[in-house]
Parts: sequence; structure tokens; C-alpha cells
Amino acid sequence: MVGAGPAGTAGSTPHHATAALAEADRLMTVCNSCRYCEGLCAVFPAMEMRRSFSDGDLNYLANLCHNCGACYHDCQFSPPHEYAVHVPATLAQVRTESYAQYAWPRAFAGLFARNGLVIAVALALAVTIFIAGFVAWTDPFVLFGVHVGPGAFYRLMPHNTMVAIFGLAMLYAVFAIGMGVRAFWRDIGEPEATLRDPGSLWQALKDAGSLRHLDGGGAGCMNENERPSDRRRLHHHLTFYGFMLCFAATSTATLYHYLLGMQAPYPWYDLPVLLGTAGGIGMVIGPIGLLREKWRRDPGLRQGTPVGMDVAFLLMLLLTSLTGLALLVLRATPVMGLLLALHLGVVFALFVTMPYGKFVHGIYRFLALVRAAKERHRELAPGDR
Ligand code: SF4
Ligand code: SF4
Repeated sequence: MVGAGPAGTAGSTPHHATAALAEADRLMTVCNSCRYCEGLCAVFPAMEMRRSFSDGDLNYLANLCHNCGACYHDCQFSPPHEYAVHVPATLAQVRTESYAQYAWPRAFAGLFARNGLVIAVALALAVTIFIAGFVAWTDPFVLFGVHVGPGAFYRLMPHNTMVAIFGLAMLYAVFAIGMGVRAFWRDIGEPEATLRDPGSLWQALKDAGSLRHLDGGGAGCMNENERPSDRRRLHHHLTFYGFMLCFAATSTATLYHYLLGMQAPYPWYDLPVLLGTAGGIGMVIGPIGLLREKWRRDPGLRQGTPVGMDVAFLLMLLLTSLTGLALLVLRATPVMGLLLALHLGVVFALFVTMPYGKFVHGIYRFLALVRAAKERHRELAPGDR
């Protein structure tokens, strides 16, 4: 339990579901009296709108926190002070518990939280071995031969089979994440209409797209010491925009296939390859940078964050981009078959583990930003609900 608190108050508040929520309640009450950090991020202004904190409020505030670390270093009451105010660690713990609370089906959440890395890697390897083994057993030449030209990838697995397997995996991930979103939105008690409010959605898009609240109020994020820097923000950007470019590459390739009748692989100068290459490079540099920052992070700021879940997600992203780029470079060689099987195995594992890993943090954080934007608007224009 982070931040044991004075006189061991954590866990002693009967109306909270967990000790972490009780501790978050204690800290938010202290911070509401102090208010020194109100300019650092969106958490403190949202906190100041409340006099008491339900579990839903605390889950909302926890997901609004970007874990920049500024309030830990700026706080005169942080450990070893007897008040033991450690907002980032406590909110990180509440956030992690909220991922499990909202996960669908709930039973999978605990499994992944404890063994996320092992499950993701084992699943990727199992699917790779299954595809490679099945193809080698049917016709070894298909696996180890050189295939070039349109449709070369589909010698390994017919296009329709590939679409059916990965489409189902993707649909499962979207459905499970959708169930989580519904649970989160109900828990924080915000009306559904807020999700249709264009002003709040636009503000949240701008805040999420620029990671405005990962800058410690303007100075930068604190990581290994009290010197702020923008490295975490930069690597988050590379990872996120790299992911979006890869998604755009896949979508463009789908349009090429069904609308233009053009089959992959495409020449290096074609749009899906250019988008995928740019995205893949971002998804190599970004996750490596984030893993490095995580490794260097002040142990005090690492508290409350499950390393396994984080590392599993970053590793899956990294392996997806590395195998994709390797496939691009070596697609006209005899290793193409094995590389494609490995790439498909990693992508399958990434899809299936998405709803139970760190991927969901971006979605809940975006939703929390939508609510924060709406609350600010309500405060400025009280008559406009
Ligand atoms: S984190 Fe510390 S300094 Fe900041 S508002 Fe809370 S009590 Fe005050
Ligand atoms: S975003 Fe930064 S300043 Fe705000 S609560 Fe989280 S760690 Fe503290």
C-alpha cells in the first residue's frame, strides 16, 4: 500500500471499496486544503470542484492523472513527512485497480495483471508455431520458399482466412474494451450526453493529442530526479502517432484490396508501405524510449504501477513494429514465411491482450479528459448543463 498515511488511516475509511481508494480520499482531502499544486495538471482543478469523494470520483481523478511526478517533487508533505502525501503513487494504484474493475470478462484482468508479460509472449509464440507448423506440414516450400509479387503473403495463409482470424481477434478486443468503457462511464456517474458533446470531445482530443497534462504545469515531466524533461512526452507521442500511422497503413491496404483489387505486398513507394514504415519507426523508438524512462524512473514514482502490464504492452508494440519492418526488408527472401508467421503471432497476441493491459490507460484517460472539459464548461456557464 502506497502512502500509509498518518496514524495508518489508509484502509480505515469504511465507505471505500479498497485501501487505495481510502488513501486517495485522504490525500485529496489534504490537497483540497492546501491547493499548492492547482496549476500543475487537470487533477487538482477537478478535485477542487468536490468536497467529498466517492469511489467513482476517485477513479475519475486517478485516470485523469498523467503520472508526470511534479506534485510528488513539489509537495512539502511528501514522504518522509508524517502526512506521507504521495499523490502519483496512490493515484497510480487506484488507476491500476480500476483497470481490473472495468475489465471484461473480469476474471481475465487478474490473470493478466499477474502474468501479463508471460501470457502475451506465450500467446505470440503459440500462434507463430501453429501457423508455421501447419504451413510446413502442408507444404514446406510455402514456408521456406521465395515468394514475390502481388498475393505473395497469401501463399502462407489465404487472405480470407487471415481476415477472419484477425478480424475476430480485433472485434473481440473492441467489444471487451467497449464493455470496459461502459463500466468506467457508469462508475464515474457522468451523463451519457457528455460523450456526445462536441466541445468537450474537441477539448479532450486536443489535450490528449498534445499530452498537455504530462508537462508538470509547463516545466516538463519528472522522471529519474527533480529535473523536468520532455522525454516521456516525446516517446509517448512517437508510440501513439506511430500506432495511428500503422493503423492508417492497414486501413489503406484494406481499401486497396477491396476497392482497387490490389493485393499486398505493395512497392516501397506505395501509400500503405510509406505509412507503415513511418509508423513502424515511431513504434520502435517510442516504446524503447518509454522502457528506458521506466527503467530510470525514481523508485518513489514507480510505486503503484504494475511493471508486468506496462512492459508487456510496450514489448508487444515493439515486436509488432520490429517484425513488420523486418518483413518489409526481407519479404523477397526465404525467411519471409517464418517472419510473416511471427508477425501474425505477435499481432494476434497484441489484439487479444489489449483489453487487459496498459493499452486501456489511453482510453480511460481520454474519457476522463472529456469529463474534465465538460466540468470546466459547467463551472464557467452554470446554467448550461
Ligand atoms: S500534493 Fe502536496 S503540495 Fe500539492 S496540493 Fe497536495 S498537499 Fe499540497
Ligand atoms: S498529472 Fe502529475 S501533477 Fe497531476 S496528479 Fe498526476 S502526477 Fe501529480
